[in-house]
Amino acid sequence: MIYNLGSINIDHVYRVPHLPAPGETLAADSYTVGLGGKGANQSVAAARAGARVLHIGAVGAEGAWARDRIAGYGVDVAQIAVLDVPTGHAIITVDPGAENSIVLFPGANQALDLAAVLAALAGIGPADTLLVQNETTHAPAAAALARAQGARVICSAAPFDLAAVQAMLPHTSILVLNAIEADQLCAALGCSLDQVPVPELLVTRGRDGAEWICNATGARAFVAALKVQAVDTTGAGDTFAGYFAAALDAGQTPAHALTLAAAAAALKVTRPGTADAIPSLSEVADFLSQQG
Ligand code: ATP
Repeated sequence: MIYNLGSINIDHVYRVPHLPAPGETLAADSYTVGLGGKGANQSVAAARAGARVLHIGAVGAEGAWARDRIAGYGVDVAQIAVLDVPTGHAIITVDPGAENSIVLFPGANQALDLAAVLAALAGIGPADTLLVQNETTHAPAAAALARAQGARVICSAAPFDLAAVQAMLPHTSILVLNAIEADQLCAALGCSLDQVPVPELLVTRGRDGAEWICNATGARAFVAALKVQAVDTTGAGDTFAGYFAAALDAGQTPAHALTLAAAAAALKVTRPGTADAIPSLSEVADFLSQQG
């Protein structure tokens, strides 16, 4: 089973002619509101991939619909608290080339109660996976507990913050980075990826594919990105991470997990939206069979 200590954001998405420059006022071509947040995206992705998922997190009262939306994708939301603070939200601009820029307000994601988080993890064990990202409080304590109880901990180092990543390294089984985050971490630590002190890494590189690296054995696996017409890349990384985690949690090999995750992420970028645009496992299977 997958436990996910994860952020929940309401995404306000503006399609714009170009990403705004400093001081510029820009009219948007369209505006939509959807479910997002790295945590919610990863929970939805893992559930769409067929995993049993318990999401641990929080929203404000006005964000109760977001919790209901997550539940609608089959995620257990019993550990999503409704707090007296605003729901986290993101202001996302997307340009015609599908590039995005994002402003985040963390809100309820930073108001989680430590005792409640640890209590929600009481039953985690060696057959389970904990997902964490850098958008909620208490990730190191949750990961320490999960590792102590034998679970796999998959940590997305995003949004990137060196101190936060360093606090997670001792408790992480698989560190997930995009290309920029990988460069930032290696520069800060003064080492190459295979010297980062975690057992395994998953590095996604957008249209250049993704790589799994096992530092313990030296094993590596690579998957190319599938060729698609990109519409909106928001959430591609979370779709990848959620699918990859679900496949490993189900006992699949890293190579197979990469294949499924790359197909799911490629399908996601063909669709506008974030959590609501993540494909189901049957859509991914159909897509893969079309690719031959
Ligand atoms: P985001 O922050 O937008 O969610 P990210 O920076 O965390 O994304 P990326 O490395 O950009 O993550 O993308 C994750 C994976 O999604 C890639 O490894 C690739 O498999 C897939 N992907 C991303 N962009 C494309 C694309 N244009 N075409 C096909 N696949 C893509």
